[in-house]
Amino acid sequence: MSKEKPKTTKCILCNNHFEGVGHNPAPLEDSKFRCCDGCNSARVVPYRVYKLREQRKQNANPDAIAIYQCSVTFDNEEWFKIPLERFIELTEGRGYYKKDSALEALIGAKRIRTPWAYFKYEKL
Ligand SMILES: [Zn+2]
Repeated sequence: MSKEKPKTTKCILCNNHFEGVGHNPAPLEDSKFRCCDGCNSARVVPYRVYKLREQRKQNANPDAIAIYQCSVTFDNEEWFKIPLERFIELTEGRGYYKKDSALEALIGAKRIRTPWAYFKYEKL
């Protein structure tokens, strides 16, 4: 137990208090507020990537709506569908990717690997 109570900030998205500087929650909330690590990884970053992808897609084909799914394999045989939050845990959470960089890498490359797993991102 620490003796001093650390300074905390209230996350604008989940209302939990967190230590440290937090993240810019835009475009989900005004950038004058801050959000926690969990909300940033699980909500803000995926939403930014989603918006970016939608914009690109609209430029290419205004009617196209595609749903993408992330999958992981640990033995390169059996693939498991996982939510993007889990993908971020398995990459950034283990320090293999820098914070907020794994999802963009996956979407850009469609397939990436770490020493413990392969990940793919494909249209359903
Ligand atoms: Zn939060």
